[in-house]
Amino acid sequence: MDCIFCKIAGGQIPSSIVYEDAELIAIKDINPAAPVHILIIPKAHIDSLDQASEKDIQLLGHIQLVAAQLAREHKTAESGYRIVNNCGEGGGQSVFHVHYHLLGGREMQWPPG
Ligand code: AMP
Ligand code: ZN
Repeated sequence: MDCIFCKIAGGQIPSSIVYEDAELIAIKDINPAAPVHILIIPKAHIDSLDQASEKDIQLLGHIQLVAAQLAREHKTAESGYRIVNNCGEGGGQSVFHVHYHLLGGREMQWPPG
C-alpha cells in the first residue's frame, strides 16, 4: 500500500524516531505546530479513527499512555499538553493512516481552528 506512515513504520522512509515498541512508533512531526510536536502512529494500517473497532481498544488505550509518557519525557507534562486526532478531511486529516498528535511547549488555544 502506498502509505507514507506504513513506510515510516517499516523503516523505508527515514524519520526522527522518539519511541518505538511492538505496536507503535512515535516520530517528530516534520512541520511542527508547537515546540513539542510528536506523532504517535500504530504500525498496523488503519485509515482513520472512524475505521477503528473493538479489536483496537487495547491499541487506542496504549497510544494515550505512551503520549502521556512522552509528554513527561519532553518536559511538557507540568505545563500542559494536548493530544489530537484529526479524523477525515473535514477534521483536518491529511495522512490517512490513523495517528495522534502530541502538542506541547506552548500555551494551547480553545477552541482549535
Ligand atoms: P494530519 O493532518 O492530522 O493527518 O497530520 C499529518 C501530519 O503528518 C502533519 O502534521 C504533517 O506535518 C506530518 N507529516 C507528514 N509527512 C511526514 C513525515 N514524512 N515525517 C514526519 N511528519 C510528517
Ligand atoms: Zn499506512
